[in-house]
Amino acid sequence: MAFPGHGAVPPSLSYELYPPATPEAGDAVLRTIDELGATRPDYVSVTYSGTPARRRASVELIGHLVTSTRLRPVAHLCCVGETREGLDLLVRQFVGLGVRGILALRGDLPADPGVFRGELPFARDLVELIRGVEARHGASLAGGRLAVGVAAYPTRHLESPSFLHDVEVLISKQRSGADFAITQVYFDPAEYVRLVLAARAAGVSIPIIPGVMPTVSVRRLERLALMTGVRPDAGLLHRLETASSEAERRRIGVRAAAVLARAAFEAGAPGLHLYTFNDFRASVDVVEQLDLPAARLAGAVPA
Ligand code: FAD
Repeated sequence: MAFPGHGAVPPSLSYELYPPATPEAGDAVLRTIDELGATRPDYVSVTYSGTPARRRASVELIGHLVTSTRLRPVAHLCCVGETREGLDLLVRQFVGLGVRGILALRGDLPADPGVFRGELPFARDLVELIRGVEARHGASLAGGRLAVGVAAYPTRHLESPSFLHDVEVLISKQRSGADFAITQVYFDPAEYVRLVLAARAAGVSIPIIPGVMPTVSVRRLERLALMTGVRPDAGLLHRLETASSEAERRRIGVRAAAVLARAAFEAGAPGLHLYTFNDFRASVDVVEQLDLPAARLAGAVPA
């Protein structure tokens, strides 16, 4: 079931990190960065959301990655609640820090309709704004480009009328200048295949990287369902609920994530993005189970 065009290129590996909310969480993130760094990811992405303090923590974490590690950060950026001018400034700030990849997102809408929703309605508008900054700052970028990623949805986005509408939105993000897409979490391998086939049929040509989450706790699964509308796999939920220890839950979650990743690779996925929740053990275990091609590591810069 390989997709056409996916040859012997080794798959990419990336991780999603979350800015720490407390000083103790800060120590855990630094440890996570060290441990994940040892697996030589192609990049690590840093989420962006919440209060101004949380957003500042994202920028600080990116600064740390650039100045104190060998990892290449991709900065998430959400346009919800932001002005055009504020976003422009943030993109310039990222470029100044040395960031060369941005994941352009809308972000989740505030529950209160009275709260300012921001000047850009959709992620595709943010992609265009980022391309505008890139064009104006070509000299600082040595004439190069920023890599701009966007979100893609194997299961319908909560606000969307249909799965096919989401595919249309993905095309519009590609037209606005997106270079790659990372998927929302999903639990049925067939959903990734369905998304890629529908997107390719509709004219989407950018890489669509599966976003996989090693789910090691029932609470996390339930929270995820609440936030994203993605229904947890009933079998996985049951296995986690009836597991007798944390170690067993970890084994179950890691195995399920490895199964999803393997299925995506068999379907021609160009890479793997792991949602880590700053829990490096589960993500490292998934990578070990996958036994990624040696060429991926051989091509990396020696430590
Ligand atoms: P959009 O692509 O703008 O879509 C939002 C909604 O509008 C969808 O329902 C879409 O169908 C609809 N829509 C889009 N364009 C149009 C149009 N032209 N006409 C009509 N309807 C349209 N959230 C955070 O807050 N911080 C993060 O760091 C973060 N990281 C993420 C990383 C990944 C890989 C993914 C998959 C999601 C992430 N999210 C994050 C969640 C994301 O912000 C939410 O899913 C959000 O609700 C939608 O963002 P989007 O970029 O897909 O928005």
